[in-house]
Amino acid sequence: MKYSRLIVRKGITRKGKEGKEMEKRSINYYTLRNIDRLPQYQHLPDDDKFALRVVGNVLPFRVNSYVIDELIDWNAIPDDPIYRLTFMHRDMLRPEQFDRMADVIRCGADRHDIEQTANAIRSALNPHPAGQLTRNVPVFEGELVPGIQHKYGDTCLVFPRNGQTCHSYCTFCFRWPQFVGTEGFKFATDESRRFQAYLNAHREVSDVLFTGGDPMVMNASNLEAYILPLLHPDFEHIRTIRIGTKSVAYWPFRYVTDPDADRVLKLFSDVVRSGKQLALMAHFTHWREIETPVAREAIRRIRSTGAVVRTQCPIVRRINDDPSVWSRMWTDQVSLGCFPYYMFVERDTGPNHYFSVPLVRATEIYAEAMRGISGLARTARGPVMSTYYGKVCIDGVAVVHGERVFALRFLRARNPAWNNRPFFARFDARARWLSDLKPAFGSERFFFEAQAHDREKRTHGFAQPSAHMNHAARPIATNGQRNGL
Ligand code: SF4
Repeated sequence: MKYSRLIVRKGITRKGKEGKEMEKRSINYYTLRNIDRLPQYQHLPDDDKFALRVVGNVLPFRVNSYVIDELIDWNAIPDDPIYRLTFMHRDMLRPEQFDRMADVIRCGADRHDIEQTANAIRSALNPHPAGQLTRNVPVFEGELVPGIQHKYGDTCLVFPRNGQTCHSYCTFCFRWPQFVGTEGFKFATDESRRFQAYLNAHREVSDVLFTGGDPMVMNASNLEAYILPLLHPDFEHIRTIRIGTKSVAYWPFRYVTDPDADRVLKLFSDVVRSGKQLALMAHFTHWREIETPVAREAIRRIRSTGAVVRTQCPIVRRINDDPSVWSRMWTDQVSLGCFPYYMFVERDTGPNHYFSVPLVRATEIYAEAMRGISGLARTARGPVMSTYYGKVCIDGVAVVHGERVFALRFLRARNPAWNNRPFFARFDARARWLSDLKPAFGSERFFFEAQAHDREKRTHGFAQPSAHMNHAARPIATNGQRNGL
């Protein structure tokens, strides 16, 4: 089998479940700077090479040797899903955006001019949907806490400073601004680690999610520096430590043969032994990512520490917008002891016009994927939009009093009173995000827009944008309260 050819060899380092030896690997990265050294790249048509260079100067491009050698089927490009997942296509930019950058490159502009053009295009790509750089950053003792987002009362997101890259970059990633090197787009903890004092003071926080980028690009020592302090009795209110990661898909050697793999797994065991749950929120886009022996061995080793693996991913057009991909992926994950958790809707940022699917299609994919799979594999919720107001699940399409509507529901909301509250939107076959939807039954605004509007006026003296606006950047609160609804 193609995938096992390079990974399983005799007599090298670690034995997997079936007694085969796992080869120790070093990760090699390819970016625009060195992609022309990749043998497979030489066989791409010139147009595709140029498109990669144009789009890759605006959006982040990085792919590693494991993805290239083991995951991409080079006989099936350009439609191969893992190729689409990691290599740019020209239509990821709008034609005018593509032509603008192409012209700059063709005329031999210097780095400064390319970067200026790139930043102008990036600013038009809604770089921070749902107001992430402003609305979710908490204030503590009169100052913002760098690298934290606190949107839901019980869950706090931490963006470790050294974990803001990934083993490869996904072409559809909504966190793309983190990776393009522009200062105003970056988001991470600073050296002061004030987030720990913040967490200590906020006893309502039960879950801490380390996210990025990918925290699992950090070495064991850095991971320990972030996680071990939370095992101290001062943080007994924190019950679950989650790590959001795509490392099992993109670099499973992290848990198997990397020099500090055992130390990472010991850290996971220490968390579990302390009485807290360690949940690896694993990002898988396609079943191909869990087919390799080393990925399976990574999952086995992670689970052997007592950690749980929960899986999530958006529906991405041209990559996994097919019910059979999801049903196979969820079924395989359950066989490996993982718990399918979320099917997301692709966010309204970056190359969303290229990768998103209409909401009605997303509901069909979810419903069809659920049919015919075991009950144990039906734990994934979806399709879910992670919006400014909270996580909105599209439960389906219904007809109420003769009106065709989307039935929607908050799974998590900024205002806990909205949790699980159903609401309805007029059916729109083209809608791809909450901002495309209008309330059903003749209402002017959704109930949460009206409440958020009143709250914003009371708090800031101005009203916040409606759900029908994509951009949500607003001034930052300066009082001592958590910044948000
Ligand atoms: S691994 Fe996650 S954060 Fe990194 S590029 Fe992919 S989707 Fe984005």
